[in-house]
Amino acid sequence: MSLQAILETVEQAPVAISITDIRANILYVNLAFENLTGYTRDEICGKNESLLSCNTTPLEVYRDLWRTIQSGKVWRGTLVNRTKAGQSYLAELNIAPVLDAGRRITNFLGMHRDISTLHQLEQELKHQKVLSETILDLARPSWSCWTANITCCLTTRLTNG
Ligand code: FAD
Repeated sequence: MSLQAILETVEQAPVAISITDIRANILYVNLAFENLTGYTRDEICGKNESLLSCNTTPLEVYRDLWRTIQSGKVWRGTLVNRTKAGQSYLAELNIAPVLDAGRRITNFLGMHRDISTLHQLEQELKHQKVLSETILDLARPSWSCWTANITCCLTTRLTNG
């Protein structure tokens, strides 16, 4: 596979990709990143990834993120991000360190996708499940009451002929 083909693959990948230096200053973003965040590469290259932060993610999450990637491991998690237009979205992220021949970290590779709709659907499903269970729970006593009444009627008729 040629280098050009690899570059085109990354550029057209259906997931938002960014490559940063070791301080998370952005060096490259692909098309999906531009489309999702609303920033053009000219606007965002040279800026820090923290530009996407919605300031609602707990500090401990970022600490864990940095501890993980600086130890050479991949960090997977969910952050609340903000687009250029100010709209917040739930980002499912994978951040991986890029190592040189001497196993030193030279860059970080970030990949993320918007899971807001998926999350909302999951919440709605959970809500529906709770609702269905509540309805069933409420229906259960009247069902057993109805069964008890029928049994009682049948027994009386049978007994009295
Ligand atoms: P800060 O005060 O800058 O950082 C919060 C805490 O993170 C600090 O207290 C410290 O413990 C730790 N920290 C921050 N920078 C460093 C560092 N250089 N070295 C060691 N520890 C550090 N953040 C998002 O919110 N959304 C994203 O989509 C996102 N994508 C990223 C992609 C990549 C490839 C990388 C490397 C980072 C990404 N980050 C992302 C993390 C981002 O760089 C910031 O750390 C984060 O947004 C918090 O920034 P802040 O200014 O709010 O807080």
